Amino acid sequence: MSNCNTTCPYCGVGCGVTAAVDQDKVLSVMGDGNHPANAGRLCVKGTTLAETLIREGRLLHPIYQGAATQWDTALDLVAEKISTVRRKHGPAAIAFYLSGQLLTEDYYVANKLMKGFLGSANVDTNSRLCMSSAVAAYKRAFGADYVPCSYQDLESCDLLVMVGSNAAWTHPVLYQRIAAARKINPNKRIVVIDPRRTDTCDIADLHLQIAPGSDAFLFAGLLHYLQCSGLFDQGYIDQHTQGLDAALVAGAACDRSEVARQTGLTQEALEAFYQLFGATQNTVTLYSQGINQSATGTDKCNAIINCHLATGRLGRPGMGPFSITGQPNAMGGREVGGLANQLAAHMDFTPDNVDLVRQFWQATDMANEAGLKAVDMFRAAADGEIRFMWIMATNPAVSLPDSAMVRRALENCEFVVVSDCVGDTDTAAYADLLLPAMGWGEKDGTVTNSERCISRQRKLVTAAGEARPDWWMVTQVAQRLGFEQAFDFQHPAQIFREHAQLSGIENNGSRDFDISGLADMSEHAYDEMPPTYWPVPAASGTAAPITDGRFFTASGRANFIALSPVLPDAEPGIQSTLKLNTGRLRDQWHTMTRTGRVPRLMRHRDFFSVSLGPVEAMASGLAEGDLVAVHNTLGAVRALLHVEPDLPAGQIFSPIHWSSQFSGQACISGLIAAVTDPVSGQPQSKFARVSVSGVAVSCWGLLLTKALPVLPELGYWSRVAIPGGYLTLLAASVDLQPMAARAALLAPLLRHAERHTCYADSDSADFRDIGTTNGDLVYALYLNPQRRKLPAHDWLSGLFSSLRLAAPAGLLAGFDPDVPDKGRLICTCWEVGEREIDQALVAGVCTMEHLGERLRCGTQCGSCVPELKRMLQALEQDNAA
Ligand code: SF4
Repeated sequence: MSNCNTTCPYCGVGCGVTAAVDQDKVLSVMGDGNHPANAGRLCVKGTTLAETLIREGRLLHPIYQGAATQWDTALDLVAEKISTVRRKHGPAAIAFYLSGQLLTEDYYVANKLMKGFLGSANVDTNSRLCMSSAVAAYKRAFGADYVPCSYQDLESCDLLVMVGSNAAWTHPVLYQRIAAARKINPNKRIVVIDPRRTDTCDIADLHLQIAPGSDAFLFAGLLHYLQCSGLFDQGYIDQHTQGLDAALVAGAACDRSEVARQTGLTQEALEAFYQLFGATQNTVTLYSQGINQSATGTDKCNAIINCHLATGRLGRPGMGPFSITGQPNAMGGREVGGLANQLAAHMDFTPDNVDLVRQFWQATDMANEAGLKAVDMFRAAADGEIRFMWIMATNPAVSLPDSAMVRRALENCEFVVVSDCVGDTDTAAYADLLLPAMGWGEKDGTVTNSERCISRQRKLVTAAGEARPDWWMVTQVAQRLGFEQAFDFQHPAQIFREHAQLSGIENNGSRDFDISGLADMSEHAYDEMPPTYWPVPAASGTAAPITDGRFFTASGRANFIALSPVLPDAEPGIQSTLKLNTGRLRDQWHTMTRTGRVPRLMRHRDFFSVSLGPVEAMASGLAEGDLVAVHNTLGAVRALLHVEPDLPAGQIFSPIHWSSQFSGQACISGLIAAVTDPVSGQPQSKFARVSVSGVAVSCWGLLLTKALPVLPELGYWSRVAIPGGYLTLLAASVDLQPMAARAALLAPLLRHAERHTCYADSDSADFRDIGTTNGDLVYALYLNPQRRKLPAHDWLSGLFSSLRLAAPAGLLAGFDPDVPDKGRLICTCWEVGEREIDQALVAGVCTMEHLGERLRCGTQCGSCVPELKRMLQALEQDNAA
């Protein structure tokens, strides 16, 4: 057995992972104690990485129009289609849509091929949906896409303002570092700004529950307050900035009463926040998708940066405006120019930069101007302007807004290539050609995390089937197009060296991104490369950017941006009353293509649900667990209702993860208009107007199967992976006859079972059917008009893996007295359920330590700690009442 260091592929924290590998198998993973991002910690997603290395759903061979084909045939076909479309319709008819899941080397070659040799800059990425507003704002303010903070700043600052970030769920290890730092420094203050009361509020001294999308008012008001209170750092402003007067004029209307009116906050709450910010020199403002995913995201980011510039709070330890990325390699994509409006190595489409890159690449057909950003790219495809699209490692049919338009775009393209490690995504269904890509643990390259730290993602095991690296596919296609010399790459180290070299060409400190000090790295040094922060200039002694007050603008000064805050609204014509907010869940990632296959990760939140606050739910006559339809003129989803205690009236929250692989009608992006920020092109994914209504259910059902069930249209279904199979929740909104339902639901399964044991009670419409073969359970189906009369999910989920299977008669009963129902999993690491915790609390356990001692919950990755604390607080409040 050997240990190998690599990097977690999920989020922008970029945790180091040490994998134990034996006989071509990853046995276990643990946090890499030497990695600066996590120092040994991992969240629950990272902890379960080894469980994602399974064959299920993997794309194992190239598939052309439904049939397996050879790699050579597939690559010839891609080259031929690109040539044909380019010849007939011009370079602008070709597009690549990439992903923050790609490695930097993959990104580099795709960008080089498109922008240097195909003559178009139509290469964009799903990182457009995640942080392009932050990029645009840094560029407007600093003249470069430079993140001026590190994770250590989050620990060392005295005030941390977390805005639009539920880090406890989305960046858990960073959140744990912050929580630990707060314990050490009791004077550290944390402010959370979020329309929802999330788990991140657990460590907040102050939670500002602002109206959705009103953040720019809050920060424009802060600038106004700092001015009126004489709290500007005039020396810093005079020496290092420009444009303050215009910014002050633009925000002059944002006095306290106007900000209170727009944000819905009390003047006292505003005063408390503004005073705290004004009085604390060492302040970091940490922001994420809640700020970026907006039609005015760039302005919101600049409203934050303005306050840091006005107080001179950046470029020194423990201070600065810090955007964290959602994806593991969003930063790497930015470095190589993975966005359609960037070139490479943080260069833009200026004539000088275009010439420089053209010469360096020896490019034969260099793009001279920016290409189409993600949403515009798919619009162009829907309108027939883009004819060929290659989608790598992402699922835009689910993740982009207005998914009906996106699906139309994919249908309209003459040829769609999807390269991915899985073949059963909603997007893959539109592909003419599927190319099997290596997944985590199989591929080899680098990623850059949110604090500019480049880490190696290393190959641990042999690739599944015929999967290949993305960079290899692009290189092979480029060679077939006649660009052999420019794409003569045999190893990712060669690509990395070229990328590093380009970053240093004619740089001399004029561009922030410089890793030319790594350009001569040997293959061995690349293999061994430790986590490395950029810049790494070839000549030593160059100061880290911005620390000396020098910026990358023409004048060398940072720009204040004049902005006039506005509240969000949906496209005209969408008049529904509820404001939809979207976000991520603790144990899930993206469209669940990886996390959705790990049974343990499906037990914190199992079936697709949306949240309303208690007031809104009551006003709508809805209760916890009801089936609801959420709809507007763009589309509709069906979901279970979760009543979230602190969600304000007028708002509804939905997770982003569900696709048609996991639930019947669950693509929430289908309700979000394709409204984008005019500067960054980032879609407003966190705001839509919708209506909600209850859906009558005539019959609920639970179906347990070993294979993926084929489900007829009933009204609602949502399924989870369980050990050895699947558990599907069904709700029929049409009249259902049990025997007809049985025939429809079990048709393909009935023949696999030798013995069928049924129970039917026509009075109560209760129906149960167990199928077994040689004593092995093949399927189980339970139908009842009342959901609470169905068996516990927890018990059902363990049946296929249970060593001690009850007789069919016992299974018909729907419970086993010797297997207590744990309820929803709270602690995924130790599989501790809500009921067990409740029982421990009732039995007198009243501290986190005692809970940990008794049940072990909260003692490993720490992701469940905020929820455990909430349960303890609720108990305290009950006792006090
Ligand atoms: Fe992976 Fe969790 Fe670390 Fe993010 S915080 S990189 S998901 S282990």
